[in-house]
Amino acid sequence: MSEQRILILLGPPGAGKGTQASRLAAHLGLPHVATGDLFRENLSQGTALGQRAKSFMESGKLVPDELVLEMLFDRVSRPDCAGGYLLDGFPRTLPQAEALTERLAGLSVSTLSLEVPDDQLVERASGRLLCKSCSNIHHATFSPPRVAGVCDACGGELYRRKDDDPAVVRERLAVFHEQTQPMIDYYARQGSLESIDGTQSPDDVFASLLARLDAGTSAGGRA
Ligand code: ADP
Ligand code: ADP
Ligand code: ZN
Repeated sequence: MSEQRILILLGPPGAGKGTQASRLAAHLGLPHVATGDLFRENLSQGTALGQRAKSFMESGKLVPDELVLEMLFDRVSRPDCAGGYLLDGFPRTLPQAEALTERLAGLSVSTLSLEVPDDQLVERASGRLLCKSCSNIHHATFSPPRVAGVCDACGGELYRRKDDDPAVVRERLAVFHEQTQPMIDYYARQGSLESIDGTQSPDDVFASLLARLDAGTSAGGRA
């Protein structure tokens, strides 16, 4: 019988969750489940869920918990998640964390938190470039594409997220400190949180994440 392995990657907007989650997912052979990506897919496909999430996302607010939970639990119920999955951008509030803990009771869960100071987050998010065709993430300065506007991984067109405008990033950071940091403290109080210095280079962050995961595997780590 195979066991579900769940990884939760926490951190503020722009911390490098998406960058690291796609590397980790490929390395561990787990699906990468990012609530922000799921909302953006719904938005671009014009679904009812996308319509409901739109104004919250564009203003840098959180989408209401009930919408997020319904979408997320539906996603992780699909067959590709049967052996486990990697969560990126979820949970973000205390009620989301509590709902997740209840659902995952008894499973093997690793919770990792990327820590980066606010001034660097504004710089990272405002230079972020996303590929329209694949999930690859570039940065105008820190990880520039070989050809301007073109994804290195697939040749797709790069675009900037509307909510990566510095004013909206600052609002997202305020929301993070108000609603998400208390939830991260909740994991820390349970003694089940690994904090990682997210200011290192992407390769060093990745190595730190893997080192913590290896250490956690031998030490157990059940919800
Ligand atoms: P980032 O990784 O840069 O913080 P995301 O792509 O994870 O951004 O999220 C983009 C937006 O989608 C958020 O600002 C929020 O409006 C919405 N969103 C994503 N995940 C959640 C969540 N777990 N709870 C509420 N809103 C969310
Ligand atoms: P998140 O998903 O947490 O919002 P991303 O992974 O999308 O963050 O990264 C935000 C931006 O910062 C992207 O443009 C990415 O290329 C860049 N970035 C990610 N990790 C690092 C790092 N360790 N050092 C410098 N820039 C980084
Ligand atoms: Zn691409």
